[in-house]
Amino acid sequence: MLKVILKGHDCFYGIADILRMFYSEISEDREKGFVTAADAPDLTLINTLENDGSSVTEVKESGKRYAFDGAPLETGREVRRSLYIALEDITGTALPWGCLSGIRPTLVASEEESAEELARKYLVREDKAALGFETSREEMRLLGLVPHDDLNIYVGVPFCPSRCSYCSFISEDISHHMGRLGDYEAALENEIRTLAPHINRRISTLYMGGGTPTVFSDEQFARLLDCIYENIRIDPSCEVTIEAGRPDTITGYKLDAMRSHGIGRICINPQTMRNATLAKLGRLHTSENIVRTYELARDKGFEVINMDLIAGLPYETGDDFVESVSKLIKLDPGNITVHTLYKKRRAALSKETVLDREESRGDIDAAVSEGYRLLYEAGYHPYYLYRQKDTGHGLENTGFAKGDTGCLYNVAMMSDARDILSFGAGGMSKRCFEQDGPASKHRVERCPTVKDALRYIRGSFEAAERKRAFFGL
Ligand code: SF4
Repeated sequence: MLKVILKGHDCFYGIADILRMFYSEISEDREKGFVTAADAPDLTLINTLENDGSSVTEVKESGKRYAFDGAPLETGREVRRSLYIALEDITGTALPWGCLSGIRPTLVASEEESAEELARKYLVREDKAALGFETSREEMRLLGLVPHDDLNIYVGVPFCPSRCSYCSFISEDISHHMGRLGDYEAALENEIRTLAPHINRRISTLYMGGGTPTVFSDEQFARLLDCIYENIRIDPSCEVTIEAGRPDTITGYKLDAMRSHGIGRICINPQTMRNATLAKLGRLHTSENIVRTYELARDKGFEVINMDLIAGLPYETGDDFVESVSKLIKLDPGNITVHTLYKKRRAALSKETVLDREESRGDIDAAVSEGYRLLYEAGYHPYYLYRQKDTGHGLENTGFAKGDTGCLYNVAMMSDARDILSFGAGGMSKRCFEQDGPASKHRVERCPTVKDALRYIRGSFEAAERKRAFFGL
């Protein structure tokens, strides 16, 4: 077991975060002042914050000391950095994002003058520093198009036609809960009708996500859209995106319903274009379904179609992922989002399968780089980026766009600098307060909605009232 003793600071969270990037079984003992990794070599590290603000990590057994040669960062980042330097040496593994352990490396990048500075200060690999720096500038540009006083709306539908094995249980299997789907749609309508008359702010973006919002029947789906458009003032300039997700739920009727309201942005997500993988993951569609649905959406006039892929899926190699990227590029959608498989809580896949530290599925890091190269070559550029805990290979998720088609909602939501009003079970409403200092330090207040769909169905009126009080509407 490896133990990290904290001296002169109490950044348990940050120390645990860095340990988690190298090992799996992490626990903290705040009273005794240490954090451990059970699946690591027997070592004791002393992570000290010195009086001058610098940090040193010393290996008790050997006396070897690790510190950054340069000006200290703020405390949380500084103690992480010296521990990262020690672990990089102990494990012989340099991670792509160096000591950046947070979910929004582009916020840190936005504080730096150049990609080189980002790489030097945070030990980020050169290609990731360039990606992070470029994406941070595009995020800032797009965020500037979303006024701070506007609201951004999320409508959540936590149901799916079947559950993918890599997903945690945010989605109910409607084959068992068909009755609840109608109740859920009615509850959403109730929440929208209760709260919408009080909204006195302009709406910049509206995003319907899930789950799979198109899981509703044709009639339920059309009724929900009608309710949204009758009750919420959506100007023509408002960006509206519907995550249609699985092609097995998309019908011509639903596409027409969206188009009749002028909705021009949709997501059709293959995750992989390899049929054998799709079947093993529990998805009920093939790559041919994807292509047919994509072409139908194009014919119906959707201007921007986003397609998601996941790198590092089990049952396929890095080469399979690159082939999926090539196939999507041939379809020429406006947006392609590359995710890296990460361990969701309660997903059927084990953490070991997700992290694949033995690289049994090939070099996913290299495959992602090759996928990015193909995307750049085809005229796409990165416009938003985030990371998740327990992501395989320490990689990231990156949204790519052609021309000026990046999704403003994605940028606004990830920024923690724009207010989000969430309808539906499991939604997180946010109020974001701008203040001096780096963007990563902005104050955010959150108002979660109950995750359980059944409890939400019973309490959608109360959910609306809570958000009304939260936003002061
Ligand atoms: S990955 Fe997406 S489509 Fe699959 S179960 Fe989860 S939310 Fe539904």
